[in-house]
Amino acid sequence: MTNTNLRLKGGIPELCREDLREPGAEEFILKVLRLPLSPKGEYPADTAVTPGGACIGQVVALGVRSDEIYEIGVGDTVYLENNLICGKCKYCVTGHYSACETALHYGAGSISGTAADYVLALKGSRVHKLPEPADLDVFSLMSAAELAVSALLTKGSCLLGDSLLIVGFDLFGFAAALLARQNGLTPVIAVDPAINGEKRRLAELAGIALYPDMGSFGGQRFTMVLDSLSDSGLFSGALDSILPLGRYVIVGKNGAVSLPVDKLAAKEVALTGIHAAAWGARKAALFLSKNSALLSSAVTFAHFSLTDLPKALAFAKDNLWSKQVILCPND
Ligand SMILES: [Zn+2]
Repeated sequence: MTNTNLRLKGGIPELCREDLREPGAEEFILKVLRLPLSPKGEYPADTAVTPGGACIGQVVALGVRSDEIYEIGVGDTVYLENNLICGKCKYCVTGHYSACETALHYGAGSISGTAADYVLALKGSRVHKLPEPADLDVFSLMSAAELAVSALLTKGSCLLGDSLLIVGFDLFGFAAALLARQNGLTPVIAVDPAINGEKRRLAELAGIALYPDMGSFGGQRFTMVLDSLSDSGLFSGALDSILPLGRYVIVGKNGAVSLPVDKLAAKEVALTGIHAAAWGARKAALFLSKNSALLSSAVTFAHFSLTDLPKALAFAKDNLWSKQVILCPND
């Protein structure tokens, strides 16, 4: 079949018509429905292959054994991760496959990406059937939801009765706040130095208190901190607010903080990091499904066609936290 693929030459998008081969063993073809842009909108100016990572699509063709291996059928709506994994290394077999030593990614190296009408999903793909009926826009929040699930439940080992401080109230912070409240954490407080009306509205929807700095709430202490800002000024104060044996999870790689090792040691605080969650997809899909109505009222979804990529990237850069920017190849 013929496919329409996006290419970038000097930052200018071009559509090209290319042949798409039949899926081989453990491969399948997706019709791409939603391609969420990461908030950082990092697309290279020139690409030898079609760019684009994780996407939502509809299964249109299956190669040999693909139905049983991936547990999908023709017509299913699925979330395709950007990971292509070996399935054999120590990380893959323990479920931490985002650290797979030989992982490849869609839209990188020589692997054709998902900014196209159709994508040939290769052996080693990670794919998740979405619950029906699925609000496709809401499921374009998978990346923020996966990070929230992994940071709070897996890395943070959240327990009933834990208390949570969220540093940086972006889409990740919003998802984490909802998830924390649904898991019985109380109180949940967020700190963000760049509060505006819309962040206040999201905090209200999530049912949490939002403050501009650590000094605005009176000496409350927490068993867990999720920090997506890595702001040096807030880091030290957040660490002061943590209870002995607490957990501090740094989300993403946003900046450099120097670690006050003496403080960490004195309280025996567990410090850990997460930058690309890829093992919380099933729980993240459940979370999105459960909160679909709330999320679709809270978040603005901005849609662009493939050739509008530069406009979409510019828009994404200006609207990091309250909007999800999506390319819709087949619209
Ligand atoms: Zn592996």
